[in-house]
Amino acid sequence: MLLEDKDRIFQNIYGFHDSGLKGAQSRGSWDGTKFFIDKGHDWIISEVKTSGLRGRGGAGFPTGLKWSFMPKADSRPSYLVINADESEPGSCKDREIMRNDPHLLIEGALLAGFAMRAHTCYIYIRGEFIRERERLQRAVDEAYAAKLIGKNNVHGWDFDFYIAHGAGAYICGEETALLESLEGRKGQPRLKPPFPANVGLYGAPTTINNVESIAVVPDILRRGGHWFAALGLPNNTGTKLFQISGHVNRPCVVEEEMGIPLRQLIDEHCGGVRGGWGNLLAVIPGGSSMPLIPADLCDTLTMDFDSLTKLKSGLGTAAIIVLDKSADVIKAIARIAYFYKHESCGQCTPCREGTGWMWRVLERMARGEAEKSEIDRLFDVSKQIEGHTICALGDAAAWPVQGLIRHFRPVIEARIDAYQAAHKEAAE
Ligand code: SF4
Repeated sequence: MLLEDKDRIFQNIYGFHDSGLKGAQSRGSWDGTKFFIDKGHDWIISEVKTSGLRGRGGAGFPTGLKWSFMPKADSRPSYLVINADESEPGSCKDREIMRNDPHLLIEGALLAGFAMRAHTCYIYIRGEFIRERERLQRAVDEAYAAKLIGKNNVHGWDFDFYIAHGAGAYICGEETALLESLEGRKGQPRLKPPFPANVGLYGAPTTINNVESIAVVPDILRRGGHWFAALGLPNNTGTKLFQISGHVNRPCVVEEEMGIPLRQLIDEHCGGVRGGWGNLLAVIPGGSSMPLIPADLCDTLTMDFDSLTKLKSGLGTAAIIVLDKSADVIKAIARIAYFYKHESCGQCTPCREGTGWMWRVLERMARGEAEKSEIDRLFDVSKQIEGHTICALGDAAAWPVQGLIRHFRPVIEARIDAYQAAHKEAAE
């Protein structure tokens, strides 16, 4: 069954209605915000814990639990930082929230900030998102003018919301690189620990959340944590913005319940796979870093964190890239490998050297110019990158390669055989 309209959080995700304050209020935004604040910091955190909300930026860490790590009494200020860098290839949901439903985000930031005793929020927006920043700034200005945020606002919790605009580096979506960039330095990930909840922005306690994670908070509080928890599947609750691109008839962003079957999502919302379901080759289920899933596993696949983890892949940002049988899967993964090579910040040797090495091998493999023994070597090198770097970009580069070898080894071998046969024939 598809998500019913009454359970939809993002009522203006396509921008058909007014994204300004009046329009947002007519859809329920800023309704009862003071009432929730009057219930106290811990009540909000407990309600978010009850909802079962897991971070929508990719990692899927429980949001309420993350908030509870923030110190309750500290002489330093606390900060909420919203990650709007959204640079993972395939991901395109946060931009729609900022463009079309920005007040959900600002209200969510106030509530999350209050829950964590933060008077200041910074949002770090991807460099390419010019219009999104303009829309969001307009909404922030409206909220200040209406005294919904700012000093002495109607909610009784002083709260400033600052927009910072990045310069378009993928690595700045990594939370500690984002903090470095916000502080005015080159965006390079920090070693952890210390974790941002202890030493974050300007050395103070900081929580970094994804745009969608924050934007769903007001509705969770308005309708109750139990309402959100009743949607989706156990441990994979609520609604989710899915983004489907690639070889489908109608690529789209759509809010659905967590755990929706992949096939239903594609058939009902995207007009099906190009050429029909039987023409499906594979999907990359959660943004380019997630290992692909071949068609034979897609028939019964549900879109949630746990089901995808069982298949050695991940929900990530729920950005689904569909490949039909016309796709050259080796070339596609080589292209993704190039992306990670290009975006590596260069601090760690396995990532700096390994991403380029994997890309070069894959380029040869896509042409068939390789030995079959190199397939295992490539897998082995990807394993030596995974988990051996400062940040998750190393993993993000390794996983697509592992997915390719796990599921499409015969395709690579056939390509090598074809190349060798052609050259033998030419030599003879
Ligand atoms: Fe930089 Fe890559 Fe190391 Fe991350 S894993 S810190 S991107 S070199």
